[in-house]
This record gives sequence, structure tokens and C-alpha cells, in this order.
Amino acid sequence: MKQPITIALSKGRILKETLPLLAQADICPTEDISKSRKLIFDTNHEHIKLLVIRATDVPTYVEYGAADMGVAGKDVLMEYGSKAMYEPLDLNIARCRLMTAGMVNSKPVNGRLKVASKFVNVTKQYYAQKGIQVDIIKLYGAMELAPIMGLADRIVDIVDTGNTLRANGMEPLEMIAPVSTRLVVGKAAMKMKHQQIQEIIDQLEQAVEAGKLAEARA
Ligand code: AMP
Repeated sequence: MKQPITIALSKGRILKETLPLLAQADICPTEDISKSRKLIFDTNHEHIKLLVIRATDVPTYVEYGAADMGVAGKDVLMEYGSKAMYEPLDLNIARCRLMTAGMVNSKPVNGRLKVASKFVNVTKQYYAQKGIQVDIIKLYGAMELAPIMGLADRIVDIVDTGNTLRANGMEPLEMIAPVSTRLVVGKAAMKMKHQQIQEIIDQLEQAVEAGKLAEARA
């Protein structure tokens, strides 16, 4: 008898790249997620359900055991900062970088640097480790606007192509961390449902390796 398994998926950009990997691991939702307003989806396996939630909520569901496993970006996991879950697999999708950025040709800053970000914890740690005192301004989106409007001297944000920064007269400065999407597993789930969870991890790992091979050949 199989135990129920709940997998929390990050909606949006990551979801589009996660579903093909899950399909290769033979886990397929029974309806089109993009055409539904549902939050919980059945799959081709009676015991496996998918939750489709905000990326920032995925670690919370997994840490508290409300989901057994989850899929979330390393940026989200770093910001959440929990040690109460395992991160057994890099899914190698939605790759980007967490970076500091500033206005092109910006003048040196007198006094404390003002840094705007939605990644408050990551920003705090990054500058603390460099021994730089900063004032952190929490924003929820469109970080690029903050330096333009004089709200901040720097931003900490996700950079992929850099086009968004360039379009707003900004440039990437320092890399804080490379980012990709990770599989996370709750500690209780890993213990109580070990065999089933390990099977899913192994199948996803094969899918990731197949993706890497295809990428190398392209
Ligand atoms: P870009 O203009 O290509 O540098 O993309 C920048 C914006 O796209 C960022 O501000 C992010 O909001 C978003 N973005 C890029 N890559 C990712 C990713 N892997 N996951 C989530 N958001 C991303």
C-alpha cells in the first residue's frame, strides 16, 4: 500500500519547466494546470498530489510537513533559510544569478549604502559578511525603480539576461550566488516515506541528467 505524497510546486516561470521533468519521472497532473484555478491537482498516481502555490510559500509547506516535497528556486530557499529540510537534487532549471546592481556610472555613495530588495535576509548576510553596513529597504517587486527614484543606491535581485537592468539604466555589479531550481524534502517525510520519496528523487535525477545530455548536444 503506497503512502500519500504531496509535492508543492512553485507557480509561474518555474512551473513551466518543472512539469516536463515531472512527466519524465512519470508524474503527470490529470488536468491542464495552466487552465485551472485549482490549487490541488490529482496525478496519474492515485497517491501523488500536486500543490501549485507561490514560490515563497513552498519552503513553509515543506518545513511544516503540509507537503512532503517541494520545488523552489535557490533564491527563495536562501531567503527562507530553513535547515529543517533536505535539498537532495538540483533540477538545473530556471537558472539565473542573485546579484547586486546599481545605476550605470553612479557616483560614490557618502554614508551608509541603501539597498532595496525583496531578499532582505540574503542582502543582510551578504553585506554583513563583507563588513559593509547598509540600510535595507524591503520591496515586493520592480526593484529597478528604487535607484531611479532615489529610494536606494543598490538593489539585490535576480538577473537572467540582464535586459531588465539595462532597460532601466542599471548594471549588474557583484554576484551573490548562482541560482537554479531545487527539489526539497521535509525531514519527517524523508524518514516516514523514505522508499517512495527516494524513488521519485531517483526518477527526477534521471530526467535532469537526460536534460543535461540534450543540452550538451544542442
Ligand atoms: P532579465 O531581464 O533576463 O535579467 O530577467 C530579470 C527578471 O526576470 C528578474 O527581475 C526576475 O524577476 C525575473 N527572473 C529571471 N530569471 C528568473 C528565474 N530563474 N526565476 C524567477 N524569476 C526570474
